[in-house]
Order: sequence, then structure tokens, then C-alpha cells
Amino acid sequence: MPPSPYTTVGRPKSLAAFERAQRLIPGGVNSPARAFGGVGGTPLFIANAHAQFLEDLDGHRYLDFIGSWGPMILGHCHPKVVEATTAALHRGTSYGAPCEAESELAALVIDAVPTVEMVRFTSSGTEAAMSALRLARGFTGRDVVVKFAGCYHGHVDSLLVSAGSSALTLGVPNSPGVPADTVKDTVVLRYNDPQQLADLFAAKGDRIAGVMLEPIAGNMGLVTPTPEFRKALRDLTHKHGALLIYDEVMTGFRLSYGGAQQLLGDTPDVTALGKIIGGGYPVGAYGGRADVMKRVMPAGPVFQAGTLSGNPVAMAAGIATLTELKANPPYERLEKLSAKIEAGFTAACRERNIPHRFNRVGSMWTLFFTGTPVTDLDTAKTSDTDRFARFFWAMMDRGVYLPCSQFEAAFTCGAMTDADIDATVRAAAESVALL
Ligand SMILES: *Cc1c(COP(=O)(O)O)cnc(C)c1O
Repeated sequence: MPPSPYTTVGRPKSLAAFERAQRLIPGGVNSPARAFGGVGGTPLFIANAHAQFLEDLDGHRYLDFIGSWGPMILGHCHPKVVEATTAALHRGTSYGAPCEAESELAALVIDAVPTVEMVRFTSSGTEAAMSALRLARGFTGRDVVVKFAGCYHGHVDSLLVSAGSSALTLGVPNSPGVPADTVKDTVVLRYNDPQQLADLFAAKGDRIAGVMLEPIAGNMGLVTPTPEFRKALRDLTHKHGALLIYDEVMTGFRLSYGGAQQLLGDTPDVTALGKIIGGGYPVGAYGGRADVMKRVMPAGPVFQAGTLSGNPVAMAAGIATLTELKANPPYERLEKLSAKIEAGFTAACRERNIPHRFNRVGSMWTLFFTGTPVTDLDTAKTSDTDRFARFFWAMMDRGVYLPCSQFEAAFTCGAMTDADIDATVRAAAESVALL
């Protein structure tokens, strides 16, 4: 029998911290994805993080393949980010008035993301997605929005239907507290199904304000779009005067410096950003065509605001992160390291006859325990989640911290070395042998 420590054995300080937190905070966490609901057991409590490593309260060190769920592409405490944010702290932490750092980061974003001509900063990816949606409705004067099953766009009321991420892991595709009226204009379609999209537009194309999706999905595990699906998205929205919104909160600056749209050569009208753009601080952004963005208040009538939006310390972290990504692009190296992980993990599964699919784009990847190609939410759900949980804990015991759900993407970070990847592949071979 494989050891089944479920984190309580040998991790007493994390367990005590979790018990305390559960008395104070619902479920002991401030975001459900952290609660280990998808793998059983209790979460690690983190004492500190440096470069590619997390250290828990009990003094164990782990290779971090979550990277705060995406932001930490440079690794933790990157010296340039630490230096920039420390300097910013001493100039004041929030002004409630404009500062030049906002334009500096805006210029970097506009330079990086091909279709973004103007950008507005928010404090989270949720706000960015929510505001992009409001803008699409305000710009078109229409109400209906289209999303895809398994795509997560933050905890926006009208998008919390068939959402991915922890909403999926916990089996709560639809949250209590979201009024039926709020989602009555949200249509949920199957990812990678161009015919369904065409049928919907044929039926009510003149009522659709926008279509929002993760252009490369990470929140049902990694799923890539087919060329036919992408072409249908662009052609149909264009033909019917709806906006195409790419939620690149996860993929922006991750899959390439210009995000998924640069990698794919796609041209969304509006893009939502988050995670990496804040270098580990709370930042989101939405941007796109100038004529659309000029409808945002006070340039236009569509209201959106934020006390801490454009916060100078967060802007400094974003500027330092993007500047580093631009000056020393890690993408080729991340591709090589991640390809080694793919080769090692799939070889381990093949050797043991474990049904698997390894979906990967650059440094974003998911090992699905299923023999079915994973192209949408339904096929992702064919995965053996119990097997995933056992794999997850076996990897944890070997010092490798993977996303604690079958339906999340893992991230390789720029601080990882070839030796780290070799150790990860060895851990995977040992872990698969225990399944
Ligand atoms: C993480 C994520 C969000 C939400 O961002 P928060 O900063 O957690 O609010 C939205 N969309 C996608 C694609 C994400 O991965």
C-alpha cells in the first residue's frame, strides 16, 4: 500500500494552522482553490517562498508548480521585483490620484499585447473580466453574453455558470446567491464546438453583446482551442457586431510575451489580463480597441472604478516583471523545461499502463488521468480524479507541489533549473509506480 499521509502526517504545524484558520475564516482559506478539496486532506501553510521554492511551516521545501496560480513566472522574490517594490513603498503606498507608473505599465502592456490599444487597470482578474463584460454590453447596447463550459472568468455573478477552477472542483457550477435573473442573459456553450456557436448566432445574433473565453483554457485543466473554433469565434462575432473577449488573465505574458493571442495570431476586440501583470501584487486590466475602450468612464459612459486600482506599489511590481520578461524572455527555456516534464511524465504513465493525456502549451500543462483526448469540459471530466489525488500526494511527499485539482493547469517558472526538472520527472516516475 502506498503511504497516504494526506499532509497531516509530518506536517503538524500546517495542520494546527489550518485548524485555527477554519475557526476564523470560512473553510480556513480566502480562496477555495487553496483548500485541497479536490485531493482530500488539508492544505500546506506557507512560511516563505523564494525563487522556485515554497517552504511550509514545518520546514519542508517544495518545487512550486503553482506559482500563486500563475503570477510568479519569474519565481518568488525576483530581485528586480523586490528592488522596484521596496523603492515604491518608500514613496507612499496609495495616492488616490494619478501617478506616472500607471502610464508606464500601460505603455508596456500596449506594446506587448497585439490588439490592446488602450488599457484600464483594476485590482483583480475578476474585476477585469467583469468590467470587460460590462463594456461589451455598454458598447453594443445588447444584453446576451456567451461563455463556454469549463472556462473560469473569476467570481463574476453573471459568469458563474458552468465555471471552471475551484467552482468545478467543488462541484458548484452555479453558486447560491447568484439570482436566476443575473444569468438569464448568459448562454453557456461547449468549448471547441463551432457548430453550436454558429447555431446560436443564427438564432439570436442581433442580441449578443459579446463572446468571452479563455483562448487557451487553463481552468478545466489545460485545453487548447481548435483552429475551426477560433475562426468561427472571430467570423461570427465580427459578422453580427458582437465583441470577442479573450480572457488572458492566465495566459497573458505566460504563453508568450504577447499572450495566447500573439502565439495564435488572433485578434480579439477586448482582452482581460491579471496574474503576471501584477508580478505577485493584486492587479488586473482590460484593454482593446481604442474606440471600444473610449467608452469607459470618464472618457465614455460605462462606469468602472477602484480605490486601489493603479496602486503605485502594484504598478512597480508589474513594470519590473514585464520589463524583465521583455529584456530576458524566458519563453524558449520554459518550453524546453516543460517539454522535458511532458516527456518524463508520459513515459512514466506509459510504462505502467496508466491511461493519460498530457495537454501542454509552453509552460502551462495538465496531466489528465484519462485515455480520452481532452478537448472540453465533458472530456476533462472523464479523468480519474481519485488517481489524480493519489498522484498529487505522492508528488507532494517527494517535494513537488502541483495544483491540488485535476482541473487546474500547472506552471513551470523561470527560476527552475534542469536539475529541478530531472528531480520532478524522477518523482513522477516513483509516484506513478505507486498508483
Ligand atoms: C484567475 C483567473 C481569473 C480571476 O482572476 P482573480 O485575480 O483571481 O480575480 C479570471 N480569468 C481567468 C482565466 C483566470 O485564470
